[in-house]
Amino acid sequence: MSAAEPPTALERRSAALATWSTARLLRSWPREPLWQRRIAELLLFARAEELDAAAWRRLQGLMASGRIDEHVVFFVRCRGAVWQRDLPTLLELFPAGCEYPDWIRAAGDLALANAHVLERWEALLRGRHYASLSASRREVVLSLGKLGAVVGPYAAELCAKYYVGDAADEALRAWTIARCTTPATGWVACGACRHGVVVEHRRGWWRAARDFTVCAICGGRPWLPRGVRA
Ligand SMILES: [Zn+2]
Repeated sequence: MSAAEPPTALERRSAALATWSTARLLRSWPREPLWQRRIAELLLFARAEELDAAAWRRLQGLMASGRIDEHVVFFVRCRGAVWQRDLPTLLELFPAGCEYPDWIRAAGDLALANAHVLERWEALLRGRHYASLSASRREVVLSLGKLGAVVGPYAAELCAKYYVGDAADEALRAWTIARCTTPATGWVACGACRHGVVVEHRRGWWRAARDFTVCAICGGRPWLPRGVRA
């Protein structure tokens, strides 16, 4: 959307959801998968700090209720695993889930360097796999960058050779190659975000909104070269 264009009905509804209280988001799940996904993202990216044990139980109960779209359930399981640093749950979703962007991102966030997973990611990058979708390949490159020196020059070579992407992805590719070919001691975690995402407070339509966005400091690539001021 350009600044001159008025927001569409979808954009207005999406913005309005960000003004809902966390309790209301937990209570009110529309039937449409699009809005279920939006609510799940708001809860997991913008409200996670507020979710106490009872809220997590409620969320888990909802996910098991059969009322929520299966892709949204999958997303919630992946992000819940990251939030609770629960590697076993993430691994339970492997291998069926490992080609999906949500799973790949979660594995990168949990710094999962597992030989079987890396093998599947290599196949995805080389495009040998039936599910070599561009969104999945992009997430693989991002996750390899999060792993950095752990996966080393071989991962950098794969990205250099097989990942082209568009112009916007060039910075990502360069970052991953740098991360994988230099020592981990040369990098510091971005202190401004959580896994490349920040909570965004803004004036909503009629009240304050709490949404999320990509971190402006690291651009969603949450390791910064040591000594470089953001
Ligand atoms: Zn950041």
